[in-house]
Amino acid sequence: MLVLVLNTGSSSVKYQVINPEEKKALAKGVVERIGMAGAVLTHKPFDRDEVKLSGEIIDHKMAIEYVLSILLSKNHGVIQNKNEIDAVGHRVVHGGEAFSGSVLITDEVIKEVRRCIDFAPLHNPSNLRGIDAAKQLLPNIPHVGVFDTAFHQSMPPHAYLYGLPYVLYKRHGIRRYGFHGTSHRYVSKHAAWFIGKPIESLKIITCHLGNGCSIAAIENGKSIDTSMGFTPLEGLLMGTRSGDMDPAIILHIMSKEELGMNDANTMLNKHSGLQGISGLSSDMREIENDYHENSRAKLAHDVFTYRLKKYIGSYAAALGGVDCIAFTGGIGENSDLVRANTLSGMEYMGVRLDQEKNKLRSKEERAIHHENSAVQVLVIPTNEELVIALDTMRIVKGEPLAI
Ligand code: ADP
Repeated sequence: MLVLVLNTGSSSVKYQVINPEEKKALAKGVVERIGMAGAVLTHKPFDRDEVKLSGEIIDHKMAIEYVLSILLSKNHGVIQNKNEIDAVGHRVVHGGEAFSGSVLITDEVIKEVRRCIDFAPLHNPSNLRGIDAAKQLLPNIPHVGVFDTAFHQSMPPHAYLYGLPYVLYKRHGIRRYGFHGTSHRYVSKHAAWFIGKPIESLKIITCHLGNGCSIAAIENGKSIDTSMGFTPLEGLLMGTRSGDMDPAIILHIMSKEELGMNDANTMLNKHSGLQGISGLSSDMREIENDYHENSRAKLAHDVFTYRLKKYIGSYAAALGGVDCIAFTGGIGENSDLVRANTLSGMEYMGVRLDQEKNKLRSKEERAIHHENSAVQVLVIPTNEELVIALDTMRIVKGEPLAI
C-alpha cells in the first residue's frame, strides 16, 4: 500500500510517499514559495539524489500537480502510475473538540475543520486548501485527516481549563487544546517500545523541541497535560515565540508601545523567544555557537532550559513520578547542551545523564541516562509522517487505530 502524506502550509506543501506496511518512505519533498516569485520544488527519492526545480506555482492545486508529476517522472519518480497511490493522509493542525483521533475526510469533517478556523486562522485554511486540491486531483481514493490536537483530547478538564469565566469556554471554546500531538504520540509509543514495557505501565514526559516547542505528560499512553494551549504560543520558550508570560504584559506593552492587535501578535509570535532575548537568532545552532562569547545568547539558552526544567518538574508532579523523559525535534535530537543544562541538578528525582552518551551524535533512537539513573532519558527522532501514513492505512483497511 502507498500513502501520499501531505502537510500544507500557507505557502508550502510538504509531502512524503510512504509504504506504511513496510514503514518505508519512498520519496519526500517540499514545494515552497507557492504564489510568490521563485517557487521551488525540492524532491528527494529515497535511493537517488535530491533535485530542485523552480517555476511559477500559483496555488496549492498546482503545487500538488507538480508533486504528482515528479512522483511519476522517469528520472526522479517512485511510481509509474497515479493509481499506485492508495490513499492520502493530510496533516490538519486544529480539530478542536470534535476530533480525538484520525478520520476519513467527509463533507461533514470538512465543515468541522472549517469551524475550527477561528482557533487556527493561520493553519486550518491552508490545510483545507490542501485537502480540496488533493481531492480534486485524486478523487477516487480515500483522504484521511490526522489532527495535531487529537492526541491531547484525553486531557482532563482540570488540565485544559484556564482560570477564566467558564462561560468563555462554553461560548468560544477557550481552553487548552495542545499541539504537536502526532509527534508526542509517536515518541511516547516509540519510547515504550525502546524500553520494552507496555506503554500503559509507563509515566512518560516527551519534549518536542523544534522551532516550535512543547512538552507533554503521558500516562497509560494518554496525554494528561501539555504546554501549548489555546494556540501554539503558550508554554516553553521557542525560536520566535514567547511561551508563558503574565497576560497583563500584552495589554501594558500595547499601551506603552502603541501597538495594535496585529503588531502585538507579530511581536509575540515572530520577534520573541530565542530571537527576542538574544537579539541574534531564532536558530539554536547559532545561539549555541555564540554561547560562550555572547552573554545574550547564553541568557536566551538559559531561559530556554530553565523553563523546560520547570515544566519537567511540574509534569513529574502531575504524573506522580516519571519513568522516562524523551527528547525529540531538531533541538531535542541534536543539542546535548540543551539536554545537559535542562537535566542538571535533577538527580534528586532520579534523573542522571551519562555525559558521554549524551554527547554521541546519531540519527537513531538512543538512551543517554547513566546506568544508575532511575529515570530513563531517551532521544527519539520523531516521525509524524509515518504516524499519518499508518493512521491512513488503518482507517482505509477498517482496522482500529493504535495508540
Ligand atoms: P521545525 O519545528 O520547523 O520542524 P526542527 O524540528 O527542524 O524545526 O528544529 C529546528 C531547530 O533545531 C532549530 O532551532 C535548529 O537550530 C535546531 N537544531 C538543529 N540541529 C541542531 C544542532 N546540531 N544543535 C543544536 N540545535 C540544532
